[in-house]
Amino acid sequence: MRTQVAIIGSGPSGLLLGQLLTNAGIDNVILERVTKDYVLGRIRAGVLEDGTTRMLDEAKAGERMHAQGLPHDGFDLTFAGRHHRIDLFELTGRRVTVYGQTEVTRDLMDKREETGGLTIYEAANVTPHDFDEAKPYVTYEKDGATHRVDCDFIAGCDGFHGASRKAVEGNGLDVFERVYPFGWLGIVADVPPVSHELIYANHPRGFALCSMRSNTRSRYYVQCALDEKVEEWSDDRFWDELRRRLPAESAAAVTTGPSIEKSIAPLRSFVAEPMRFGRLFLVGDAAHIVPPTGAKGLNLAASDVRYLFDGLREHYQERSEAGLDAYSAKALARVWKAERFSWWMTNTMHRFPDTGAFGQRIQEAELDYLVHSRAASTSLAENYVGLPYQVAEGKTGPTG
Ligand SMILES: Cc1cc2nc3c(=O)[nH]c(=O)nc-3n(C[C@H](O)[C@H](O)[C@H](O)COP(=O)(O)OP(=O)(O)OC[C@H]3O[C@@H](n4cnc5c(N)ncnc54)[C@H](O)[C@@H]3O)c2cc1C
Repeated sequence: MRTQVAIIGSGPSGLLLGQLLTNAGIDNVILERVTKDYVLGRIRAGVLEDGTTRMLDEAKAGERMHAQGLPHDGFDLTFAGRHHRIDLFELTGRRVTVYGQTEVTRDLMDKREETGGLTIYEAANVTPHDFDEAKPYVTYEKDGATHRVDCDFIAGCDGFHGASRKAVEGNGLDVFERVYPFGWLGIVADVPPVSHELIYANHPRGFALCSMRSNTRSRYYVQCALDEKVEEWSDDRFWDELRRRLPAESAAAVTTGPSIEKSIAPLRSFVAEPMRFGRLFLVGDAAHIVPPTGAKGLNLAASDVRYLFDGLREHYQERSEAGLDAYSAKALARVWKAERFSWWMTNTMHRFPDTGAFGQRIQEAELDYLVHSRAASTSLAENYVGLPYQVAEGKTGPTG
């Protein structure tokens, strides 16, 4: 088989890139390791920057998001028993949209089917070859046979554990990493959210987050030790712990119910540099991971796609290599700012083993400064809604 761009992975980055390419008349094939249902069964991110929503519109996959997504103009920070609202819209003129990653994925998959894009599911042992040369190709195994896809470029959109980054390890790849000494225990429950906006809670017992997927489906998290087992957390124990970490009026307003999903996720900051190796490009979680505190993971995948798609379109339509040559530096400049923000928010909101009483007071003083200084609140807000995308001079493009 021959295509112009072979995309490894059908998560949000692979699907978004594939749809933008298809809409621009650039042929592409997606190779995915697992089944479509497995991909759709993952419950992950839920807060979309407006740059991400604009890209979904550009992919012509934004209709349901606009109908069902929840626009949020602000969120609450709670600490020392009190609520403080960060008014994103007043501070930045922009808002975020709460719409689950599962739904984003479903919309992009539906659009791909509608426009005739090819995705090969259950492709095993996907391996990129000869990406340092002019004629790269990808091999995979399916139904007992080995198949080959010849292409011009390979987009490694295969997440943190994928094959693309592995293929360049030891090949000039630098890795920067911080692993946090705690995780997030998260549940999903079909109960109305405690508040119509997100609540980020700093508490001496640990961080908590009240989020949602819709007006009838809530997503809650509490910080937990890394060695805790999900089985040790009954629903009742979870609800009790969540309420203890919230100010009294919110705790009293939590509607409880049976969880439909419960899991523990570790927290990590990770960046691999560079993001281009000849004709192979690393995109999204394949190149970087952020702790979910700043809601940046999915949004960074989208900004990588912005830069890579622009570069590929310029290559095919304008015969210019400038965009592809700039891809790694442009993407990394935005990635590192989001890494910094996610790291800072994680440090400010969580209890670390050495936080102690002094560290708790320092966190509360920082948060108090933050909510009472317009400059500090604006800095938080502009990072949360998403920093602008860097577009080539003389061209227009959506801002983050
Ligand atoms: C449990 C969890 C919770 C999260 N919560 C949040 C959150 O609240 N907010 C937030 O912003 N972000 C969150 N994230 C991060 C966010 O989900 C990711 O940043 C986002 O999914 C990145 O998209 P991606 O397409 O780059 O990678 P992925 O979504 O990981 O997609 C990669 C795809 O490649 C496929 N693949 C992997 N290996 C291969 C292979 N060898 N061959 C072929 N295909 C392969 C995978 O099956 C997958 O479909 C969370 C992540 C996890 C794991």
